[in-house]
Amino acid sequence: MTQVFVYIILPLVAVIAYFIYANTRPKAKLFCPACGTLAVPKQSRRGSIGVEIVLWLLLLVPGLIYSVWRLSGDTNACPACGARTLIPADSPVAVRMLSSRGE
Ligand SMILES: [Zn+2]
Repeated sequence: MTQVFVYIILPLVAVIAYFIYANTRPKAKLFCPACGTLAVPKQSRRGSIGVEIVLWLLLLVPGLIYSVWRLSGDTNACPACGARTLIPADSPVAVRMLSSRGE
């Protein structure tokens, strides 16, 4: 049981803690190369909170795995065109495209 805890549950908790931390950071503006929008991206998450809660109530490990699966599927989407290929606003490509239109 101790080995299960050390090798499975502990890493999963660490991964969830990381995703929660990454998710609660202030959202930076991202650049959309598809339509040229510079905006705070909208989040889309797969799965459902209901299934997550049921799994957590039934057993610890399935709930953990499901939570990791949901959180790892978070994606940034362009609020204007819905593209998922957003890049940091300070990346060379974004800087070049923004400066070419005078921003
Ligand atoms: Zn876009």
